[in-house]
Amino acid sequence: MRIVLIGPPGVGKGTQAARLVQELGLAHIASGDIFRSELREETELGKLAKAYMDRGELVPDDITVKMIAGRLATPEVRNKGFVLDGFPRTVGQARALAEMLQHLGMPLDAVISIEADDEVVVDRLAGRLTCPNCGQLFHRKTRPPRVEGRCDQCLGPLEVRADDREETIRERLRTFHDLTQPVINYYAATGLLRRVDGGQSPDEVYAHIRASLAP
Ligand code: AMP
Repeated sequence: MRIVLIGPPGVGKGTQAARLVQELGLAHIASGDIFRSELREETELGKLAKAYMDRGELVPDDITVKMIAGRLATPEVRNKGFVLDGFPRTVGQARALAEMLQHLGMPLDAVISIEADDEVVVDRLAGRLTCPNCGQLFHRKTRPPRVEGRCDQCLGPLEVRADDREETIRERLRTFHDLTQPVINYYAATGLLRRVDGGQSPDEVYAHIRASLAP
């Protein structure tokens, strides 16, 4: 199965993508995670992306599309199918994706838009803690780590992502409304779009996503 997940920052795309990956055995292509790992490894791509990411802005389409093209063409993605998490985020990226998938003979099965009010996602993101070592996510209020400041899984120190500060969160939301909302309209016209309420618990959101994928 080939699925695109769209939604504002903090709506739970990463959590839901991980569940789909686990249950359906799909490859997980998370553009933000890829950029962050390139940044940690100080690659050319990471250096290019850093300034945009720190400001809460999108990395330019040509750079992002090239990075995703490389992932889509791997044997793993061909064999397993994929969940695209965080891409496409502009109509230009959506068009480029359509071209790439047509070229690869891998049409999309569904586009899931997880939706929530701005205040809900600001609240969630402002308390978010991330483990830079293993990627686990925690939340000061709703999912605190067992030991303060330490990851439950690998015991590494937790951090607040540079772009999870309130001012940057507001900027990321503005970017979402200006540039990514039109992508949802683009997919609505293709008949692939499924809308899911992201204001519910992760289990409820997942149940709706699974129901929306039923044939
Ligand atoms: P995320 O973890 O998905 O919220 O992404 C973190 C940051 O990476 C974003 O704020 C952007 O700067 C960059 N990024 C991730 N995905 C994309 C994309 N599809 N297009 C442009 N920039 C992206």
